Parts: sequence; C-alpha cells; structure tokens
Amino acid sequence: MRPESLFPLFGPITTLKGVGERVAPLLRKVAGPLVRDVVFLAPTSVVARRPARVIDLVEDAVQTLTVTIESHQKPARPGQPWRIRAFDDTGFVHLVFFKGVGAHLEQRNPVGAVRAVSGKIERDRYGTHLQIVHPDYMVSFERAADIPQIEPIYPATAGLPSRGVRRLVLAALERAPVLPEWQDPAWLAKQRWPSWREALASLHTPASEADVSLQSPHRRRLAFDELLAHQLALAQRKQSARADPAPAVAASALAERAQAALPYRLTGAQTRTLAEIRGDLQSGRRMTRIVQGDVGAGKTVVALLAMLDVAASGRQAVLMAPTEILARQHFETLAGPLAAVGVKAVLLTGRHKGAARAERLAELASGLTAVAIGTHALFQDDVVFRDLALTVIDEQHRFGVNERGRLRGKGEAAHMLALSATPIPRTLELTVYGDLDVSHLDEKPPGRMPVATRVAPMPRLDDVVARLNEAVAKGAQAFWICPLVSESEILDVAAAEARWEALRAVFGETVGMVHGRLPSTVKDDVMARFVDGSLRVLVATTVVEVGVDVPAATIMVIEQAERFGLAQLHQLRGRVGRGSGESSCVLLYDPPLSETAKSRLDVLRRTDDGFVIAEKDLELRGGGDPLGLAQSGFPAYRIADAVAHRDLIAAAADDARLILARDPALASPRGQAVAVLKELFDWRPDGSVSQAG
Ligand code: ADP
Ligand code: MG
Repeated sequence: MRPESLFPLFGPITTLKGVGERVAPLLRKVAGPLVRDVVFLAPTSVVARRPARVIDLVEDAVQTLTVTIESHQKPARPGQPWRIRAFDDTGFVHLVFFKGVGAHLEQRNPVGAVRAVSGKIERDRYGTHLQIVHPDYMVSFERAADIPQIEPIYPATAGLPSRGVRRLVLAALERAPVLPEWQDPAWLAKQRWPSWREALASLHTPASEADVSLQSPHRRRLAFDELLAHQLALAQRKQSARADPAPAVAASALAERAQAALPYRLTGAQTRTLAEIRGDLQSGRRMTRIVQGDVGAGKTVVALLAMLDVAASGRQAVLMAPTEILARQHFETLAGPLAAVGVKAVLLTGRHKGAARAERLAELASGLTAVAIGTHALFQDDVVFRDLALTVIDEQHRFGVNERGRLRGKGEAAHMLALSATPIPRTLELTVYGDLDVSHLDEKPPGRMPVATRVAPMPRLDDVVARLNEAVAKGAQAFWICPLVSESEILDVAAAEARWEALRAVFGETVGMVHGRLPSTVKDDVMARFVDGSLRVLVATTVVEVGVDVPAATIMVIEQAERFGLAQLHQLRGRVGRGSGESSCVLLYDPPLSETAKSRLDVLRRTDDGFVIAEKDLELRGGGDPLGLAQSGFPAYRIADAVAHRDLIAAAADDARLILARDPALASPRGQAVAVLKELFDWRPDGSVSQAG
C-alpha cells in the first residue's frame, strides 16, 4: 500500500499549476505521467549566465548584461529581422528578432528603458558589432534577479523548452515532502550526504557546474536511493522465487553416460557450473539461474547434461532459442547425443504447422518426448507438457523483456536456466541479474587459438579481398558482415547487396548472402549451404546468429566496425576461431577514425576476454545504455547512472540484503522508511518502472 505521505507525489502531472491540456502531453513525454516523475527529472547540464559589460562580452558565451534601449531598427524588407540597438557605459549591442514581433517589441521596450538581457553572444554577419539573436531573457531592471546566474538545463521537447520544464520541476519540487530517513545514518554521515529532501532541492537549484555533476554529493545520494530501491526489489523477487517449490531432480547415470561419450572432457568451469545447477535442481526449490559465458565457452553441453538429469527423472525439459536457425542447429547437435542414451527429442518452431505441429504437441502432452528444442513456438498457449521441469533459455539477452516475463509465467513450477553470451561487467552484474543466481563459465575449452585481429581502413579493401581470395583458394570459409546502421534498413540491405555483387565478381557462385529481409526459408537454406561448405563466403548483416556454429569458418571481415559496440564486435568475432585452426578477423573502418574509436578497436586487437572487453567498452563509451542492454532488462534508472555510479551498486546490494535479512517484513522504523523508498521508485517485477498512476 502506498503511504499517505507520498500521495502528493503520485498525483497526475495535471495537478501542477501550468499543466493544462496543451502542456500535459509534452510534460508526460519528457518526464512521465506523475508529479514524482517530474521531481526526479534531473537536469543534464547548466548554463552559466555570467554578468558582463558590453566591453567584456565574449563571442559564443552565454552572458547577461544590463543595457538601455537606444533605438529600434525596423526591417527594411520582409524577411529581415527587427533590431534593437542598446548600450551600457562600455559599448553597443544589437538584439535581433525575426518573425514579425516588432511592434509588440517596441511597445514593451521603449527607447530609454533599461533591460536585463541574457543570451548567446554572437558577432553579426559583417563583423561590425556584437549581437544576441532572440535573447533567452529580456526583463525590466527590477526583475533582473529572475535571470538565474546558473540555469539548469532539462530535457525538453518541441513546444516545451527547458525553461518551461524547469518552471514545472520547481512547482513539483514544492510537493516533495520531508520523509523519514531510510538510509543508515552512519553510512550517510560517512558519505557526508544530505537528506533526501535537501538532495532533491540541490538537484534542481544548482549553484555551480559542479552541482550538476553525477558525482556531486546530492546526486550520489539520490542515485544510491534509487539503486537501493532497485536492489530491494530484486532481492525480494529472488527470495520469492526461491520460496517456490519445484520438482527435486537428482544427478543421473544417464547424464554421466552422455558425458563419458563426449569427445572431450568438461572444463573446470563447466564442471563447477554443472554442480551449481545440480545443487539447485536437487533443492526442491525453483532454480532461477543464469550462466554467463563468453561465446564458445561451451554452454550448450552444460544445459544438455542438466536436461538429461531431468529426462532421467521421468520429466521434461525444453531448450528455447531466439531464432529458427539456432533452434535447428541445437536440435542437430543435441538430438544425436540424446538419442545415444535413449532420450527422444523433438524440434518445434514456427515452421511446423498443421499435422507436423499437432503430432509434436501430442508427443509433448503425452510425455513420450522428454526434450523439446525450439523457438517461441514452444510457448504458444496450445503447447502443453505432461511434466515440464526445466526451461533452458539460450541467448537469453536476445529475448525482449516482455517475452522473458511470459516465459517465466509459462513454466510456473519449472526450473529456469538462462544462458547468456553477452558478458556483463562484474560491476554491473548486480543491476542486471540481481534477481538471479549467476554461474560464470569463465574458462574456454583448451586448444582454442586466439583470433588474430587487425584493423584496416576501407581504402585497403582490395588488399583484404585479395588475401581473402588466397585463403578461400586454400579451403577457408569466411563471414563478411555489413552493419545495420542507417535509419532505413532498406538502405543497409542495399549496401549489403552491393557488397555481395562486388564479391561475386571475385568468388562467383560460392558467395551467399543473408539479411533480415529475406524470407526465413531462404535464410535457412543459405545458412545450410554455408555450413555444408558449398558456400565459401557469407555476406551477412548482423542477422548472423550469435550462437550459430560453423567450425570450418576461420575468417571474419566486419565493415564499418567503428559503428558497432565492442561487445557486439566481440560476439561477431566469436563466430570464428571455434575449431583448432588459426583464424583471423579484419575490422574495416571508414577513415578518419577518432582517437576514442581507435582505442576502442584496439581493445579488440589486444584481448579476446569478453569481460575485459565489456568493461573497457563501458569506460570508453560512458553513461547511458553503453552496452545496448536496455532490451536485455537493463534497468532504466532515473537518477542513477549505472556506469558513473557503479561504485555504489555493490554497497546498495549489500544494504538491501542486510535490510531484508534483519527485517523481512520491513516492520521496524527503518524498515517502514525503506518501504516508503521502495514505493517512491516503484520497481515492477519485470525490472521496468511503473508508468501508471
Ligand atoms: P557457447 O557457450 O557459445 O554456446 P557452444 O556450447 O556452442 O558455446 O560450444 C562451442 C564449441 O565448443 C562446440 O563445438 C562444443 O562442442 C565445443 N566444446 C564445448 N565444451 C568443450 C570442452 N570442454 N572441450 C572442448 N570443446 C568443447
Ligand atoms: Mg551457444
């Protein structure tokens, strides 16, 4: 239940003065539907409106001056601006207005009147004098104090400029009550942080540029509040998942036999991860675990052995992949080992229709088939399992947040095992996977050679193609990736097609192409021909499935590599170097390359550790959604910045755990204050933020 003290903040924005029918939709777009959302809208920068005399004006600076109106210069021709000439003791300045506002201007600013004016200083076209085009402020001398010396700049939208937003934020701020302190007093004192209410006030009335820094004490305090609220929600969700009963599944002789039949031995990390999974499966409590392992770390076999334990117990398991191609490939690699130990598996994707689908559904409903492998088609309403005990979600980051929510719903009582190849830096892991148990598959199978990576400018394309031709003549296979970057996918696809045409001149019929606009039957056919070796070069947009395994492919060329995130480049590069032969990767870029871009690409040359790469990417790219993770459940923080405030994440997680351990019902005085904090941020179970009042 929402505490009464928060009612004013949870009112709709229309309760704010100045938010009527016109402004409401704009403010909703900028901040959200609630007063609370406006209060938490942080300024992104400040404009310092330094007072100056005309003689001290600096071009391109924003400055504030006090001047007397000397004359109005009316436009001689339509299209020309209205100019006001004004002066102080040290010189003249022009105030320039376009769009027929002249008569009104003259009336309001008669000759001889004194005005405080603020705006960006420019030099006029002929270089003869300084001017301000459309001053941000122009007020009477008495109201000069209305011009803030330091003005916070807010996110704005057409029709609602920053200044309008600021006015509404200040109105919303007045609604913010003083609330009981939810932070530990000793921690607050140690950090020298202000109270919540004081911190909010400082957020919106910065007195210097340092005050809008993400590292200012008030901003860090508010960020910590948000991180703590989020960690509390995650910890509670983890607790409640752990409380769900689920079938106890024991390690099986069947899995042992399958393991013994593998052509390799499990790595230490695979053995450890399998033990962690088995611990969960045996517990009688529902497993919610994610395996984080770099591309090629060998996640599939770990999932296979867990599924075999489930099959041996007489129950069913499903493995779900984000795409048709990947599901098919999993089925092809797993059906053999499964059949070898007498376990029947079935493939179910969107392609199975009518009788084919009905037959498969019947097998799953009767329990005849123990393992199902497929795409989302597995989670349609008409798919019924006799006794589903384990859901494995491969490449889980490829599923949207909503889809994942539905998955959880479907396999209510089933254990859940997610596999992810997007390395999340350890520092951020708690924000993304705080509600899951995490296993790290941080060791690659032995014998893998690092992929020799080099960076080359586009003008060297002919060289690259010539070398590729030599390698292909010697039997190599290659991926050639064209980015999807422009606003229009059609243009991107056209670029990929042009590249394909160009390469056909060299490689003839042995170069194929896949992109997202092709029908999936065509895509699959091309992929299949690449896998069986009849195609030697595959031109692809990034639809090249993250998990697709083509062991014979040893060369990866990526065009416009500078436009990809490092983590994504790493994923793409992970498509090669899967066998034991030497592989290489060429990162082509359009010169010139900025220093940052250069050092980013350089990271890939120097390391092939996905976690190191993710960490570097974070450093080099800074805040926002640096890893493109919004889709994979990365929280949309209002105040906190997962990168800038990453030093606070672990502390918030510890604090959340401690609070819940001591006071699970949040009944103590601090517990009650913490409950208010939780309500204030209102994290919904799927990790998003409630938007509705
Ligand atoms: P990912 O973690 O990217 O899903 P896969 O499960 O597809 O990786 O495994 C990549 C390749 O490594 C597969 O060809 C698999 O057979 C092989 N592999 C897995 N584990 C081992 C191991 N312990 N030793 C050698 N090869 C392994
Ligand atoms: Mg995989």
